[in-house]
Amino acid sequence: MVARLIDFHCHLDLYPDPVTAIAEADAAGIYTLTVTTTPRAWPRNLTLTKNTRYVRAALGLHPQLVAEHSHEISLWEEHLNETRYVGEVGLDAGPGYYRSLDLQKQIFEHILKQCAKVGGKVLTVHSVRAANTVLDLVEAQLPPSQGKVVLHWFTGSKSDARRAVELGCYFSVNAAMLSTEKGRALVAELPADRLLTETDGPFTHVNSRPSRPSDVTIAIEQLATLRLMSPNALADLVIANLRTLVEAVGDPLKTWFTG
Ligand code: MN
Repeated sequence: MVARLIDFHCHLDLYPDPVTAIAEADAAGIYTLTVTTTPRAWPRNLTLTKNTRYVRAALGLHPQLVAEHSHEISLWEEHLNETRYVGEVGLDAGPGYYRSLDLQKQIFEHILKQCAKVGGKVLTVHSVRAANTVLDLVEAQLPPSQGKVVLHWFTGSKSDARRAVELGCYFSVNAAMLSTEKGRALVAELPADRLLTETDGPFTHVNSRPSRPSDVTIAIEQLATLRLMSPNALADLVIANLRTLVEAVGDPLKTWFTG
């Protein structure tokens, strides 16, 4: 049997043809979490994923868009009960976005508080140049019993990663992350039971075209090499991790695991 694949962070609504992108991931049986960048984009994403078996949508407010979209936080809150998946959320202190960092912190703190209050959410979290602050906020606002955090495309230090592990975080790893020596060194030391895979398509590329969920095989192969496992064993491990993660938040959609 072909191992199942997981793309736990991509943006299928940003592809030229989201309907086909979602249909392809679903037909291929790839467990896919398609994130949104603004709450206004949510209703369409929810509609597009309503009848899919393998594709879930996450409700987000991307830190890079907080400067102009922070007012949509009330809309985010209104929709929160429509999904167990939250993202893309987090902080970005990179050159283009540090000016809005205070506002980003307010928004992310609010999101974490709301998730802790209602419980049962999985968050896919961006932490560019802000790993430490992201972890401070997670530690202060979202106890592991109240929600699960997946650090997407994590580029913090090894000590940040160790702290994240202690806080119960998972890591979704993509091929771009494994293309740097620093990224490989970090991922090599992560606990096996916290590893997930992602593409972050369309923001990453394969042969100059935007990545698709099926391209997650590249991350699987690279991870397998790095962790001295066969690609099939690695794919099975990541599936087992996803199962633990979604069961921890009581995802009633058992269809994720009928295969
Ligand atoms: Mn992303």
